[in-house]
Amino acid sequence: MPRTTTFSLTRIAVAGIALIASAAWGGCPEPTLLSVAEGVYGIPGRGAAPDRANCGRSANGLALVGAEGVILVDPGPSHREGVALKRVLERRLQRTVVAQIDTHAHPENVMAAGAFPRVPVIASDLTAALMGERCVRCLARLRKQVGEDAMRGTDIVLPARTVPQSDTRVIGGRSLRLLRFEHAHVRGDLAVLDTATGTLFAGGLAVSGFVPDMGEASFAGWRSALADLIALGPRQTVPGHGRVGAADPLAETRAYLDDLAAFVRRELRAGADLASALERADMPAYRAWTGYRERHLLNVQRVWQELETDFVFGAAN
Ligand SMILES: [Zn+2]
Repeated sequence: MPRTTTFSLTRIAVAGIALIASAAWGGCPEPTLLSVAEGVYGIPGRGAAPDRANCGRSANGLALVGAEGVILVDPGPSHREGVALKRVLERRLQRTVVAQIDTHAHPENVMAAGAFPRVPVIASDLTAALMGERCVRCLARLRKQVGEDAMRGTDIVLPARTVPQSDTRVIGGRSLRLLRFEHAHVRGDLAVLDTATGTLFAGGLAVSGFVPDMGEASFAGWRSALADLIALGPRQTVPGHGRVGAADPLAETRAYLDDLAAFVRRELRAGADLASALERADMPAYRAWTGYRERHLLNVQRVWQELETDFVFGAAN
């Protein structure tokens, strides 16, 4: 596979744009499909976090057309959004969904699975365990964020098939490399590489123009996962949040994480405490990213907690 990360915006078909003006679904526009490669479509999310304005669809998804039907990665936040997506997929692609993949256990990514009855859900073993532990609470939280009406009919669907280690599988007639990580954005992240087109769907592991949520992250694990994904040399990467069609979401995400770590290490070496460091933690380069106000300082705190331990025990000196 070519080791270029060049991604031409001209490769994004404009066909999806027409859908923006199409019929609204319960107050939110229908999900949009953006063609990113032969038989591969990004499904863009909107907004900084799940809320009433975006009906919970804040995370991006991906649809791949295989010989047997559509493989849907991260179906979305709710039954209603799932049904809306199903209609769009059937109209645009004239195919039904035959498999679903959950990249990680965040409710805005996975709660639409029940809109595709009898379609098996695939996830890492760790994601399956985490969903079993906490999906009831996650769903309750999402209901509060998005509203009862938008979430009506949403049921938890636990993964039926699990991925205990990185693996290449033919799913729905398409060869997919499933890359499993112990703990990066959350425990058990999965990224999906379409081997035919070199398209990587990075799930929670990459963002573009979007401040990632590091609330449950392992900084070291995420940094290591990014290095592994970059080493794969994907032809293009669709991030889990932010712009579908950006030139290099993996590099954007790495730059943000590295800048956070460099700031925290500098402050630790200078003997600063967290409270005073937070007063200096503004990073103008990322102010325009979606979610900066909501998440940036929380991310500094998260990285501080992890790197402070290393610093005290000498690993970061
Ligand atoms: Zn997430």
